[in-house]
Amino acid sequence: MRKKFLEAWERAAKCLELTREDLVALLSSDDEESVAIFQLADEMRARFVGEEIHFRGIIEFSNHCARNCCYCGLRKDNLELARYRMPPWEIIESAGRAAALGCRTIVLQSGEEAYYSGEILAAIVRAIKKDNDVAITLSVGDRSRQDYALFRKAGADRYLLKHETSDPRLFAALRPGTSLEGRLERQRWLAELGYQVGSGNMVGLPGQTLETLADDILLFRRMGIEMAGIGPFIPSGRTPLSGDTGGTMAMTLKALATTRLAMPCAHLPATTSAATIDPQGRVKVLQCGANVIMPNMTPAQYREDYSIYPGKIGLNDTPEESYARAVKDVENVGRHVGVGYGHTRQHKRVV
Ligand code: SAM
Ligand code: SF4
Repeated sequence: MRKKFLEAWERAAKCLELTREDLVALLSSDDEESVAIFQLADEMRARFVGEEIHFRGIIEFSNHCARNCCYCGLRKDNLELARYRMPPWEIIESAGRAAALGCRTIVLQSGEEAYYSGEILAAIVRAIKKDNDVAITLSVGDRSRQDYALFRKAGADRYLLKHETSDPRLFAALRPGTSLEGRLERQRWLAELGYQVGSGNMVGLPGQTLETLADDILLFRRMGIEMAGIGPFIPSGRTPLSGDTGGTMAMTLKALATTRLAMPCAHLPATTSAATIDPQGRVKVLQCGANVIMPNMTPAQYREDYSIYPGKIGLNDTPEESYARAVKDVENVGRHVGVGYGHTRQHKRVV
């Protein structure tokens, strides 16, 4: 093994704060070195966040989007996509179904658009919280601070707003009309309003380097992120990046395991994109540091149209089938489904 790698690994094993150089050494690991990172990440996961796997049932309630992110199949200019919006009553009913199955967190996700006003979304959050003993995560993109405050007041506990890439130039190129600084400012607002803030990145974006990935992890740490969704970029048809190669499972596992070493208490989900590029993806990720699964609770008739990227798993499943598959994966790795809300264990952040 390389000297630099061993030094970084030893610092991680002693829970010392990892430097950018350490992170690059870990991310550049060869096959033998990767096994050592994966084992250590799994040990750290067991030690700091335990054997529970938290279920966050996700309802993809609308695929309308006013943005044109170059990587995403929901982008405004994709005119071939059939668009849908679930009515509020159906979102609330789907959340009840997910809660009855056992999800203690409901994630409401959509494209970015103004159709669901701050007041409407806040009313949906309030109705779900009134009828179910669940935590709520929102993932509806860039909104005004006033809207974030409304959602929080209505009872939203967490907000998922990925920084996607820590490279400001790449961010601006991939998300036209927006900036990394704007995204981070929103993460700060959310933290100030008392949300548990989730971020994340995509592995394998064009122009991304190991240094970019190291900076992604440093950014999670600097922003005091409580959950980091790390998944491969999957090229999607009818987007400007459709001809790209996309991220690999090997690099995704390294990025996730390295994040566990850098942030032992963070919640790290097994992303749907990881499960999409590898049939064993979810199980592999759970063995390399992940401790969260987001079973799809979207009613079956909408799933095909929430087409962020091709080949998404579970397109024909009902929420019950998605839940059962997730339970099976938990059993396959010899762990158990979390019984509580799965709130974060760390709550320190730099704002
Ligand atoms: N519109 C909201 C936003 O952008 O924050 C939430 C929905 S968006 C579809 C959720 C996530 O999908 C994004 O944060 C991004 O990381 C991921 N995503 C989009 N296109 C992807 C692709 N081609 N491959 C992998 N992940 C992708
Ligand atoms: Fe819209 Fe989010 Fe997709 Fe960007 S990533 S196009 S904001 S749904």
